[in-house]
Amino acid sequence: MPKALVVGAGVAGPAVATLLTRSGWDAPVFEARSEPDPFAGLFLNVAVNGRRVLSTLGFAERLLSDAHPAPRMAMWSGRGKQLGTVPNGPAERPEDGGVVVRRSWLHQVVREGAEQAGVKITNGRRLTEIEHHDDGVTVRFEDGTEETGDIVIGADGVGSAVRRYVAPDVVPTFSGLLGSGGFARVPGLEPTPGFQHFVFGARSFFGYLVRDDGTVYWFANLTADAPPQDRSGLVGSGATSADWLERLRELHSDDPAPVPQILAATEGPITVYPIFKLPTVQPWSRDRAVLLGDAVHATSPSAGQGASMALEDAAVLAKELQANDFPKAFQQYEAARRPRAEALVAYATGIDKQKRVSKSRIAVAIRDLMLPIFLRKAAGDHSTDWIFDYEA
Ligand SMILES: Cc1cc2nc3c(=O)[nH]c(=O)nc-3n(C[C@H](O)[C@H](O)[C@H](O)COP(=O)(O)OP(=O)(O)OC[C@H]3O[C@@H](n4cnc5c(N)ncnc54)[C@H](O)[C@@H]3O)c2cc1C
Repeated sequence: MPKALVVGAGVAGPAVATLLTRSGWDAPVFEARSEPDPFAGLFLNVAVNGRRVLSTLGFAERLLSDAHPAPRMAMWSGRGKQLGTVPNGPAERPEDGGVVVRRSWLHQVVREGAEQAGVKITNGRRLTEIEHHDDGVTVRFEDGTEETGDIVIGADGVGSAVRRYVAPDVVPTFSGLLGSGGFARVPGLEPTPGFQHFVFGARSFFGYLVRDDGTVYWFANLTADAPPQDRSGLVGSGATSADWLERLRELHSDDPAPVPQILAATEGPITVYPIFKLPTVQPWSRDRAVLLGDAVHATSPSAGQGASMALEDAAVLAKELQANDFPKAFQQYEAARRPRAEALVAYATGIDKQKRVSKSRIAVAIRDLMLPIFLRKAAGDHSTDWIFDYEA
């Protein structure tokens, strides 16, 4: 039985391991974390192209049992003027719109689904080294253990250790945006069925939705010159979660309701993390190692496609490994995926630019004047259908 060593139990890792197991591979997964993190990230959009892969895996129904359907996005200026609404999905097909789930719930559904399919997932195994042989590959972990297989699949996210072997010169760079956010309950705030709201605040970009049970999911993108020094935890630069929350309350104090109210009602720890850009990785494999998901094309959360793209990669890589030996399978996989991944990264980078807040009041005023025109155009056109209509 061929053996694939899968590194990383986020989204792509358990997904590709499940598909490979079903086609007769031994595909154990090794995850650095000692246990699943229930607060891993915030929430994310799962688009219809990603849901197609989840359906193939048989995981979609469970995921949707705890999801907020959000086929439309409403945009607001920092003065409370509605700039427009746009579809969060293919134009004129709200049934195929995006759904918002907690990131930890998506991880749990995919991980537990994989285990039910017979995939063995081992926590507390941080990959540090890869050694290639003519007839196989050995991976070594921080705890001193090692494993041998036929190939290694790097599904270990934006800070990928497998990528250091495949493309040692590729180093993520800071995008100029920090992601932050949390959860709250605001008495009297009505649910927002079918919608996410986005506010182009004067000093920071804010997004929120209210689930039917009243839970508010919110995030803010802060513009920053450099990432916090300490990347290990929720917050950096010596600032605590409470410090960041205070800063966000101040930055959004002039924004329209319910933004200040949501921040005032947030009690728990909040997440703050730098958003990184990844230079182009070329090629996506070396020897017996291949990359997928954020490890090879980290996509800014702005496009709402990071998880969906990781799932698409998993489906295509598994299909190619079923049909071909490596390295042909790796080459075919890359040929099928690279153009789409690069187009998507470019699309997300364009959205990031709009979110970065200019220090010039004139630039902000021009943006607020121009955005309604762009949004009206975007509301009915089919220019982003290529993202959603893809069949992995
Ligand atoms: C903190 C954070 C918050 C995010 N929040 C959002 C969001 O709000 N909205 C959104 O759209 N997208 C968000 N994203 C991006 C989104 O989660 C990813 O695009 C998507 O999960 C990609 O899936 P993946 O499987 O490629 O990587 P991931 O889901 O990141 O999984 C990678 C896994 O590899 C493990 N790992 C890392 N290094 C090693 C190693 N050396 N050895 C073994 N295991 C390793 C990690 O612990 C992790 O479990 C966030 C990402 C991060 C990191």
